[in-house]
Amino acid sequence: MHKKLFIPGPVDVSEDVLLKMATPQIGHRTKDASALQRSISDKMRKVMYTENEILLSTSSGSGLMEGAIRSCTRKKAAVFSVGAFGNRWYEMAVANNVPADIFKSELGQPTTPEMVEKALSTGEYDLITITHNETSTGIMNPVEAIAEVVSKYPDVIFCLDTVSSMGGTKIDVDKLGVDICITSTQKCLGLPAGLSICSFSNKAIEAAKEVPHRGLYFDLLALYECIQKKDYQYPSTPSLAHMFALDYQLDKILEEGLENRFARHLEMAKVVRAWANKHFEMLAEEQYASNTLTTVKNTKGISVADLNKELGKRGYMISNGYGTLKEKTFRIAHMADTKMEDLQVLLKEIEDILGL
Ligand SMILES: *Cc1c(COP(=O)(O)O)cnc(C)c1O
Repeated sequence: MHKKLFIPGPVDVSEDVLLKMATPQIGHRTKDASALQRSISDKMRKVMYTENEILLSTSSGSGLMEGAIRSCTRKKAAVFSVGAFGNRWYEMAVANNVPADIFKSELGQPTTPEMVEKALSTGEYDLITITHNETSTGIMNPVEAIAEVVSKYPDVIFCLDTVSSMGGTKIDVDKLGVDICITSTQKCLGLPAGLSICSFSNKAIEAAKEVPHRGLYFDLLALYECIQKKDYQYPSTPSLAHMFALDYQLDKILEEGLENRFARHLEMAKVVRAWANKHFEMLAEEQYASNTLTTVKNTKGISVADLNKELGKRGYMISNGYGTLKEKTFRIAHMADTKMEDLQVLLKEIEDILGL
């Protein structure tokens, strides 16, 4: 039996989108491949609210995160972490010999504009990474306020991890002044994992030109230069299966309407937050609560693993807490093409299992 997924990636993928992955292959050096990739970039620019170039990578989101910090840090990176995925960005810097400092918030707390100001005002850093939506804690950082601080430092490249939020909530990349905005397919965009996407500003391009060793597969400047030279074709063979499905799914997303899609995510978030507050507690403070997933504090001391086992028998799956938050929290994703009706059935099933 297929379990309906309420985990923050991979998400359930609509049958018609899955079928698009079975489209017969085309040559990756053909005009058709160029047209397909250009079409995806044009549509992604709308979803991201940007005029910057879009880069596609056949990898999950982590690939472009590693590529961004390595390709564009000239002096030193300031990595702001509110959980597992911010920490991972710091590990990527260390593994690539990229000078970096990490600025951690307490678990469940956001990155504040004050923290960013304090770090950037030292003049030590020329790249900053922010997690927009931390999938372990269910925190959505105050990105507008952070962006305002970053905008005072024109030499700093602004990298934003929107892996678990792009397509589920409005992220106005150009208005925020984000230079590299990264996402991947298996979360709010509603596709299988395997493709990642980023925007790439002119400022980021110029920064990368000053970095001598950018790696190879995730050299963002090389990806950029290749698609300019070869009419949107990439240096190596891309996952055309993902491209067919993404191009199609982006049509569906734009047909739903971005504002409608964001509103649907928020409506679902409100229902889960109210439910969490009624029966448990939320890890995030209300003002920083994510619109795409909710991390619930296990105040009743239930066995999350057992709950998930029971849910599995009924055809559902949620997520245990991440890392040190395992069993202390559980997570319910409300992203991509999830419908309110299905979410409500899930919450009823949990109540039934736990006798709430
Ligand atoms: C899932 C996730 C990642 C990692 O992305 P992959 O596509 O699995 O490599 C990074 N950051 C956040 C916030 C995520 O939710």
